[in-house]
Parts: sequence; structure tokens; C-alpha cells
Amino acid sequence: MSTVHDVAIFGSGPAGLTAAIYSARANLAPVVFEGLQPGGQLTITTEVENFPGFPEGIDGNELMAKLRAQAERFGTTVRPERVAETWFDETPLRFRIDGGEEVLAKTVIIATGASARYLGLDNEIRLQGRGVSACATCDGFFFRGQEIVVVGGGDSAMEEAIFLTRFASKVTIIHRRGELRASKVMGDRARRNPKIAWALHSSPVDVVGENAVEGVVVEDTRTGERRTIPCTGMFLGIGHTPNTEPFVKWLETDDKGYLVTKPGSAATSIPAVFACGDVQDSTYRQAITAAGSGCMAALEAERWLEAQE
Ligand code: NAP
Repeated sequence: MSTVHDVAIFGSGPAGLTAAIYSARANLAPVVFEGLQPGGQLTITTEVENFPGFPEGIDGNELMAKLRAQAERFGTTVRPERVAETWFDETPLRFRIDGGEEVLAKTVIIATGASARYLGLDNEIRLQGRGVSACATCDGFFFRGQEIVVVGGGDSAMEEAIFLTRFASKVTIIHRRGELRASKVMGDRARRNPKIAWALHSSPVDVVGENAVEGVVVEDTRTGERRTIPCTGMFLGIGHTPNTEPFVKWLETDDKGYLVTKPGSAATSIPAVFACGDVQDSTYRQAITAAGSGCMAALEAERWLEAQE
């Protein structure tokens, strides 16, 4: 445990890898712990159409592979482990990664992002991998010719539903309100799709099936009436929860559990610990804003290191 890294980065999405590119180019030889989902959420999305510089769009996996190659080109070490526990009350900062190894670093950049949220229904957990999924790109293929549902009214739900029409014979979007949260362009695209049906004002209260999903019970949010929508798959598109578990005890969080950073900065409540990307952003949650905040975190870590000399 003798090496003390200048910069350790937790997470390998657009925020983490942008932080790596900047700190590597500042000669700080950062080490990135990629975590459970190397490349982050963009690796389970489809085409990324809004990242500047790609007028034709770019595949999420390809974009992340390019960011990683760019980070490695300037001297970033990428390791596959996840950070399991941290001691941010020590100098240098100490943390333990999967497998038990303990690592020391002068600065830490947290870019662990956010994970898909589930509804919290009992049967939802039991039927995970048996029709219940939060990843259309991972599991859509298994539902060829079948009738499925997507829960949610935001851009993620629209994107998932549209993608799933490639495989499914019918996709019903279940949304608890009459109006969508999604952007107009995504909502219109879903409305124009002839394979998409709508269950608005509908809240899912149960998912039924013995060994695999057979239907979703929804309750009309205006009348309380219940009905079952027959389907073999239920995809969740209801937002995300920030991944803060290994270090939340040291850091300030907001009422939704996101890490608090100083306005216009990546600084957390602990000096030398910075945060960027979705783990500290419940508002924008875009790849480009994550990348921008990753750049801020790296520049601030660099300045912090300089100030110690
Ligand atoms: P979101 O915008 O927060 O939408 C979540 C949706 O799930 C809302 O419609 C919400 O309903 C519903 N919901 C939440 N909890 C629920 C529950 N317990 N039961 C039933 N419904 C529930 O999340 P998101 O769609 O993941 O999008 C997050 C961000 O990423 C947004 O800024 C979005 O623009 C962006 N994004 C962009 C693209 C794109 O541009 N291609 C694609 C994906 C995501 P209410 O509306 O009633 O609250």
C-alpha cells in the first residue's frame, strides 16, 4: 500500500474519463477504478444523438471506448475494480477496492454516476431477469414478437420504448400522469410509432407471473380502478439513484441523496475530494454536462495539489 496516487477517480462514465483525460494531461498519472458498469450509463443506451461533434450520432459504447482510449493515451491507468469502502478522514485519503486491496491517494474524484431505479414492488425483484428489466439495450432482443410494457414518462422511457419496438410486437408505455415529462421531440417520436400504445394516468401496483412476467397490474390514478395489462416484459424507465454508498457517510448530500458540490465547482464538503457527473447532478444528467463537470473536478484537483506544494 506504499504508492500514493496523486489522483484516484471512481467511475468510468463521461465524467470520470474526462477527469482522467485532464489529469493525465497535467502529468498526474491518474488511476481510474471503473466500477460495476465500465463506461457507465452510455454503454446501455442506444445511439447518442446529442453529444457535440457527432452530427450523425454515435453508438454509446463506441463513444465511451474513445474516451477511455483518449484517457489511456495520456497515461491513465484503468482498473476494473469497484471502490468498496473509504476513509476520507485520513491524509492521504484511503480506500479499499473489491478484492480487499487498500489504496492511498492525495485527491479523489468521485464520478460513480447513478443507477436505474426500480418501483419497489415485491414481485418486481422476484421476476428480475425473468421479464423485469431496466435495460432495453441489454434485454430487448429476448422479446422478439412479444407484447411488453415500459414504465415512465421521461426521455429514458420514450427512448427505451422506441428501441424496443424493433423487437416487440407491441410496447405499452405506462405513465402515472396524463402529460409526459419527456422532451417534445422524444414524446412526438413515440406518439408517431405505430407499435406503441399508451396507458396514461396509470400507476403500476403489481407485476404478475409465476416463473416469468405475465402481466402488469395498473391502477387508474383518477378513479383507483385496477386492470391487468398482459405482457411478457416490464422495462423500467423511471429515473435513477446516485451511487454514493461507499463514501456517503463522509460527504454532504441533498434531499434526493445526490452529493452536494459547491455551486460552480466540483468541491465536496471534504477538501481533496471532488465529485462530478450524475452522482452530484439531479438536474441536467447529460453526458456532456457530466464531461464538463469531470473537467472541472480534474482542474480543481490539480490546483489543490499545487497549493499543497
Ligand atoms: P426523468 O426525466 O426523471 O423521468 C422519470 C419518469 O419516471 C417520470 O415520467 C416520472 O413520472 C416517472 N416515475 C418516477 N418514479 C416513478 C414511480 N415510482 N412510479 C411511476 N413512475 C415514476 O428520468 P429519465 O427519463 O431517466 O431522464 C433523466 C434525464 O436524462 C433527463 O434530463 C432526460 O432529458 C435525460 N435523457 C435524455 C435522453 C435523450 O435526450 N435522448 C434520453 C434519456 C434521458 P412523473 O413525470 O410523474 O414524475
